[in-house]
Amino acid sequence: MGTSYHITVVKDVYAKEVITLQDEIDSLLEDVNETFSTYSETSEVSLFNKDTGLNVRPQSVDFITVLKEALYISEVTQGAYDITVGPLVNLWGFGPDFNKDSVPTDSEIEEVWLKTGYRQLSVSTEAQGVKKLTADIHVDFSSIAKGFGVDKVADLLDLQGFENYMVEIGGEMRVRGFNSEGIKWRIAVEKPDSSKRAIHKVINVTDIAMATSGDYRNYFEKDGVRFSHTINPATGKPVQHNLASVTVLAKKSMTADAWATAFMVLGDKKGYDLAIENNVAVLFLVKEGDSLRELMTPTFQRVIGDDAS
Ligand code: ADP
Ligand code: MG
Repeated sequence: MGTSYHITVVKDVYAKEVITLQDEIDSLLEDVNETFSTYSETSEVSLFNKDTGLNVRPQSVDFITVLKEALYISEVTQGAYDITVGPLVNLWGFGPDFNKDSVPTDSEIEEVWLKTGYRQLSVSTEAQGVKKLTADIHVDFSSIAKGFGVDKVADLLDLQGFENYMVEIGGEMRVRGFNSEGIKWRIAVEKPDSSKRAIHKVINVTDIAMATSGDYRNYFEKDGVRFSHTINPATGKPVQHNLASVTVLAKKSMTADAWATAFMVLGDKKGYDLAIENNVAVLFLVKEGDSLRELMTPTFQRVIGDDAS
């Protein structure tokens, strides 16, 4: 996944158990990678993307689970979230062949844009398979796979009887129970600042997943304009607005991860309304001149309670 992970479990465990657990987690994450990585030519998703057949292709349970979640978020966001935008991500230089500094022409964008659209994918639950309705449709799980990896690790820890833990992969996290001091987990929401790492706010939470998306890490600038790695599927271009970051809390990490990307596309106005409609816990950080404005949904406020700092 091109990132690192960090897991804390609170329990008296023997060193040997820790080593076994570490091995199990590593092999589980290797499996996740072999399903969703666009960097690996032989991953399930890469093979899926290469295949131009229109038959129902059998896919793994994990692939179908994540695809269904992604398509659900696409439906509720009316396509603002769309995992078929991968070719556009590549065109703008944010794909596996990293080359971010060129702005494509409108006709280049149009040509690639025509090959996108989540409605070109259909999941057959009985057949445990996926059908492409057009041959050149591609899927890109970058906005949801890390979250799914977190959920897989959390499920493994649950299964082994761990009740207090924190799992984090590339900034997506999920916590259960309490930390080693016996209190809620303290999680930092990063300041959306590309020049340094700093904390915007610390929240105290338990039994929840948190994901953040922003325009402050992965972007390039050309002639004073910032192009972020979040693509607006309606235009085929990187989103342009004052939203600096979005933090979402949800039961599952993959849900939080996908919603966070979706809200980056929607912006704080449309995003806020949709979050209210769907009862999503969101914190928007909006740029206003040199300062940041916080916008929280009531659900977010309720989850963090009064003890945020
Ligand atoms: P990160 O993975 O950097 O933390 P995100 O979770 O927001 O950030 O995922 C960003 C990635 O999602 C992009 O690099 C791109 O591959 C993909 N992406 C970009 N725009 C969209 C979109 N509208 N819908 C779904 N995925 C997208
Ligand atoms: Mg995401």
